[in-house]
Amino acid sequence: MSHEGIRIVSEEQARREDGGHEKLPPDAVTPVKVRVKKTEGTGVEIDWKDGHRSTWTFLWLRHACPCATCYEDREQTGRPPGVAKPKEKTPLVMYEAPVKPLEATQVGKYALKFKWSDGHESGIYSWEYLRRMCQCAVCTKP
Ligand SMILES: [Zn+2]
Ligand SMILES: [Zn+2]
Repeated sequence: MSHEGIRIVSEEQARREDGGHEKLPPDAVTPVKVRVKKTEGTGVEIDWKDGHRSTWTFLWLRHACPCATCYEDREQTGRPPGVAKPKEKTPLVMYEAPVKPLEATQVGKYALKFKWSDGHESGIYSWEYLRRMCQCAVCTKP
């Protein structure tokens, strides 16, 4: 049957998506302290209720934007969150100022939102997403 293949692929995909989404304990996604280091231009630091401290650089966060447009774009090119788009070939070497947030706002009790210096601002970074994507030295150790 020619339909078999399609069914199996979508089942595998569903399983993969489920697998990455077991619930995190509430303490792991409850921030105690959120520091957005706008002045230093470095990144975001969050202390969680379970005692873990997460860090992300602004560059990483910008390239991990969870909005639908950025998400689809990453899916299409197979880039993991946090990885920049490959540069288009240009004969000129241009200086690009590193992206940073002009504004960081807390969205309700569950998320952070950034207004980036490149004009983008549609991503809502939920605590859950941030914690799953923790970029601290411990979590990123291979
Ligand atoms: Zn986005
Ligand atoms: Zn971590």
